[in-house]
Amino acid sequence: MSKQIWAPWRMEYIKDKDTGSCVFCEGAIAGHRDRAAYRILAGRADEFVVLNKYPYVFGHILICPRRHVSSLEDLLPKEQESLFRLAIDAQIMLKSILNPHGINWGINIGKQAGAGIEAHLHVHIVPRWEGDTNFMPVVADCHIMPGHLDKLYAQLIPEFSRLDS
Ligand SMILES: [Zn+2]
Repeated sequence: MSKQIWAPWRMEYIKDKDTGSCVFCEGAIAGHRDRAAYRILAGRADEFVVLNKYPYVFGHILICPRRHVSSLEDLLPKEQESLFRLAIDAQIMLKSILNPHGINWGINIGKQAGAGIEAHLHVHIVPRWEGDTNFMPVVADCHIMPGHLDKLYAQLIPEFSRLDS
């Protein structure tokens, strides 16, 4: 990322962590029953895609393994492969729907590297638009994110659910 942009999500993640539960494990389990509540966009045997509740920018998604592991090497080779397969498929989908100017991929391993939830590995895919570093703080100040997230989820889910297997 070219610049540190709006990141109140980190504080929220710390709050979530205080409850002792893992939001990604919760999503992996409860998400089978109620996808929308966890904003799960697609699910496969070993991993799923979720719309980030605390996004850097509009359309920021996360790809999570279902297993609670903290680092890539903790996954089996077939899980590593399927995680990246789903991430690539999700990137293609995101590009076709939102038409961003660019995309950032990121994996933060360990708190010092910036991981909000360090215990459960996740791949960030962040669509980028020219000028979004200026635009986002304005959006954040307006407190319009939750409604926008619901709307975006509704827009993405019919397409993303095609990635299920
Ligand atoms: Zn977990």
